Amino acid sequence: MHDILPDRVGLWQHIEDTARAVFAAYGYREIRTPLVEVTELFKRSIGEVTDIVEKEMYSFLDRHGDSLSLRPEGTAGCVRAAIEHGLLNQPQRLWYRGPMFRYERPQRGRYRQFHQIGVEVFGLSGPDIDLEVILLTARLWHRLGLQALRLEINTLGDAGERQCYRERLLDFLRPHADRLDPDSRRRLETNPLRILDSKDPTTQAILAEAPSLLDGLGAQTRAHFDALCAGLDALGIPYRINPRLVRGLDYYNRTVFEWITDRLGAQGTVCAGGRYDSLVEQLGGRPTPAIGFALGIERLVELLGQVDSGANPSVDAYLVALGDRAEIEALRLAERLRDRLPGLRLLVNCGGGSFKSQFKRADKSGARYALVLGEAELELGVVGLKDLRLTGLSAGQGMVGEQRNLDPEALIAVLAAELS
Ligand code: ATP
Ligand code: MG
Repeated sequence: MHDILPDRVGLWQHIEDTARAVFAAYGYREIRTPLVEVTELFKRSIGEVTDIVEKEMYSFLDRHGDSLSLRPEGTAGCVRAAIEHGLLNQPQRLWYRGPMFRYERPQRGRYRQFHQIGVEVFGLSGPDIDLEVILLTARLWHRLGLQALRLEINTLGDAGERQCYRERLLDFLRPHADRLDPDSRRRLETNPLRILDSKDPTTQAILAEAPSLLDGLGAQTRAHFDALCAGLDALGIPYRINPRLVRGLDYYNRTVFEWITDRLGAQGTVCAGGRYDSLVEQLGGRPTPAIGFALGIERLVELLGQVDSGANPSVDAYLVALGDRAEIEALRLAERLRDRLPGLRLLVNCGGGSFKSQFKRADKSGARYALVLGEAELELGVVGLKDLRLTGLSAGQGMVGEQRNLDPEALIAVLAAELS
């Protein structure tokens, strides 16, 4: 679990703000659910024989003896909330954001507390909404300036089709059982579709000859998938059909998709999702089709950090004040500036110090401007303004550089023009 330090937080906020704006542009509304749910909820939704439920959950007994878990993902809580609060009598387009917890082996792109931004849409069953959700993600990458992501899609069919496929896959895999990696061998009995997702090279080599899910699809599943592909073609979203793409959670059916990059090593999936038409009913709600995705913010941050260092200064101006009277007047001035210029990011010198040491701090803060209030300025009823970049003023130089003396209103006008 990691601390996110101030130098890095700018990138996080940029991703979060951009996502919020994109969601708003598609009419999606935010939902916030608790970090803790009853363990049973995750067992029933994610599936008993998934990695997450078998070995990754932070579960504990509360004082009453009930088993609770830190949420390992966001969908289960969203579905529970939607059922509990009667949101499902009309279509819902929702998004969420926040920390998730999985007891995984920590490595690059894989942490025990990580953060997701996700979307869940309830009550719409057609390929049009699948397309919308994918378009929305594509817009998000575009707004973030990310080009290195590629889209892979697949269809898992419906429960019956998956059952048939399960049999065909088992027939194919059983003769190779002793060469499969241990996890995959175990999954032969429990969750054979997940073997398709194995990262083990030998298992992957065996799978090269495996039957494809796509061959056994019924007409309806086929039509749904074809319509999605046609929509992606029509809207110019490049994609690759990957017949071995499955998801690590049990509740998916039909459309699944991932956005993948080659720039993050082994943990290349930045965003993953799909349709889960039976989950709402499975959790006690009325039958409601659904589709959603989640993206990993840490992986996006790393990707964006490669594009841009994110080293934006966090303040616009630094207010230097010398003398007891000036210090109080500086606070008065600062409050006035903040009243009048809501966008201004103003740092006020604290802890006194000579002009020289205060200018040193101003320089270090990254601020564009130093505002100066000393006895001389107070006498004249003005504030000194120095452009720290224009004058090339550096820490050691102290007072050199041009100072313009402005009355407060003129100062406000200059700063306002600068901020707009
Ligand atoms: P993976 O195959 O990488 O384990 P998953 O199938 O477990 O992924 P999901 O549960 O679908 O992943 O989560 C969606 C996204 O959340 C992932 O694509 C990834 O970007 C991010 N994510 C998942 N687990 C972690 C983690 N432990 N640390 C950081 N990000 C994660
Ligand atoms: Mg995982």
